Amino acid sequence: MSRLIVLAGPTAVGKGTVVRALRDMAPEVYVSVSATTRAARPGEVDGVHYHFIGPEEFDRRVAAGDFLEWAVVHGQNRYGTLRGPVDERLATGEPVLLEIDLQGARQVKASMPDAHFVFLSPPSWDELVNRLVGRGTEDQEERERRLATARQEMAAAEEFDQIIVNDTVERAAAELLSVVRASG
Ligand code: 5GP
Repeated sequence: MSRLIVLAGPTAVGKGTVVRALRDMAPEVYVSVSATTRAARPGEVDGVHYHFIGPEEFDRRVAAGDFLEWAVVHGQNRYGTLRGPVDERLATGEPVLLEIDLQGARQVKASMPDAHFVFLSPPSWDELVNRLVGRGTEDQEERERRLATARQEMAAAEEFDQIIVNDTVERAAAELLSVVRASG
């Protein structure tokens, strides 16, 4: 099995939460630190949660071919996986986990088809709808836009090697960890 594992899934399915739980269970697992143009949120540390870089620096690194993949996520900020640290780690034979959006996963599939692609799925469509629009703070138009996006994102599941259901965070993280360990 390939040592590069790519986790993607629909918006609001809880990818970040599952990866955090995995890191708590197995701090030795190498999770790629993405670069992003978005501002750090309170508590986020540069170089740990993300490499926070400005748009000019992001442009420069795109032009230099530094990114394995990159994408504009939620129509706003850019996010990308830096190729260097991933290649270095893979060269040592250790597994690498990427947590990225669907556009990014498709780019990795095009350039590294032997990677192992995992789709994190909600336990049900209704559950995803709840997570997306549950708080009821969006207007009707925004809700419909999010649901249309979610329907498209769910249809991408068939492009993946494996589906992990995020029924409980602990269980999904344990399943993902077993995939990572099996690849190492
Ligand atoms: P957040 O801003 O909440 O940390 O992340 C927003 C979204 O960006 C999540 O869906 C996450 O999967 C995606 N993301 C984070 N890092 C990367 C990356 O390096 N590449 C791509 N394509 N998406 C990413």
